[in-house]
Amino acid sequence: MPIYEYECQSCQGQFQTLLMKAEDEKDLACPGCEGNNLKKLISRGAYHQSEKDRLANFNPTSHQNDSFYTDSRNIGLNAKKRAQEMGVDLGSGFETKLEKLRTDPGSVLRESD
Ligand SMILES: [Zn+2]
Repeated sequence: MPIYEYECQSCQGQFQTLLMKAEDEKDLACPGCEGNNLKKLISRGAYHQSEKDRLANFNPTSHQNDSFYTDSRNIGLNAKKRAQEMGVDLGSGFETKLEKLRTDPGSVLRESD
């Protein structure tokens, strides 16, 4: 499920929201000032570029707070880090499945039937 991050252009506040449908975006308002002059901060393209950094900074033995686990971008990071440490190439199939899990978990369940 896609989680989007916005910056309010009125108060510079940043917040994340989960959009079920793209049309819901027009109804969004800043939780701080209720303004609707919002700038989207993270596109799917942007987080792809930073995954390398996320992986490099990810420490599987340290305690993660709840927001780590509810952030869909972190799904599969643990498995990936371990594979990387063991020198295992997970292949592009793993990437594809992971991407599906992040964006549309339902489709993965349907496919494994
Ligand atoms: Zn605001």
